[in-house]
Amino acid sequence: MTDVTYRGGCHCGAIRFEAKGAPKFVARCHCDSCRRTTGGAFSTWVGFEDPQVEWLSDADCYCSSEGVRRGFCKQCGTPLSYQSDKWVGETHFLIGVFDEPYQFVPSGDVFTEEALPWCHGGGHMQLRAASPADLNLLRHWDEQRHVIAADPNDDWGWEEELHRTPEWRELLIAELDGRPIGFMQIIDPALEDSHYWGDVADNLRAVDIWIGEAADLGRGYGTTMMQLALERCFAHAEVTAVLIDPLATNTRAHRFYERLGFRFVERRQFGDDDCFVYRLERAGWQRDGFEGTAS
Ligand SMILES: [Zn+2]
Ligand SMILES: [Zn+2]
Repeated sequence: MTDVTYRGGCHCGAIRFEAKGAPKFVARCHCDSCRRTTGGAFSTWVGFEDPQVEWLSDADCYCSSEGVRRGFCKQCGTPLSYQSDKWVGETHFLIGVFDEPYQFVPSGDVFTEEALPWCHGGGHMQLRAASPADLNLLRHWDEQRHVIAADPNDDWGWEEELHRTPEWRELLIAELDGRPIGFMQIIDPALEDSHYWGDVADNLRAVDIWIGEAADLGRGYGTTMMQLALERCFAHAEVTAVLIDPLATNTRAHRFYERLGFRFVERRQFGDDDCFVYRLERAGWQRDGFEGTAS
């Protein structure tokens, strides 16, 4: 049995390494920490066990977060490797520093919830207006268990609502490469006619969002949809903040919104729903969006 040897190094050649035998994994990482330390929209990592790896010259090291050591060349600045207390005994190399990077093919994606909107394994997401032709689709999504769990007491009255286009509302379908995957409503809560939000300031937006099929949950699509929605809201110069009201029990949603920069405002009863109100100020948009999620 002959073990392949993969060779690589930095751009200037000062740092060289070898890795013997098959890698443990090849994966794309979409985390903010990798994005920042490599400068790439996402990073593709090739992971080896330490005994497979031989450094022919020593790289310098930067700790991007506790227990994480990122190797680089101090002469040319090339980022090279990743080691973490979470992955004891492993060294991960960036695919681009191998002499023959085409030998590796990624088998998956991690931290997709932090991915840039256009970065879902090449998939392209866009929002389009919902229309009466979406009636059956929306009814079908409404019957999904996770949709009912997130929104148990609302009757959306689709048949009627899909024919209405009031100025204070947008009903949107998110499509991934043309496939409908989720629904979103954006309203001006001060103008909305049922006064769901009660007395509320002008120039706000409130968003409802869900993913249609359970199989599309946990893949980062919600984050992309929300980012597109926020861009849409704040594209209006007069809009100062965006509101959202997940159920008080939906802790997963709370973390999701906090990661996008939303701040908790209050616990509030909307009809039969016990909710947490979150608010994202224009100034907090994107700037605070990804703190505390370093891998
Ligand atoms: Zn170098
Ligand atoms: Zn990462």
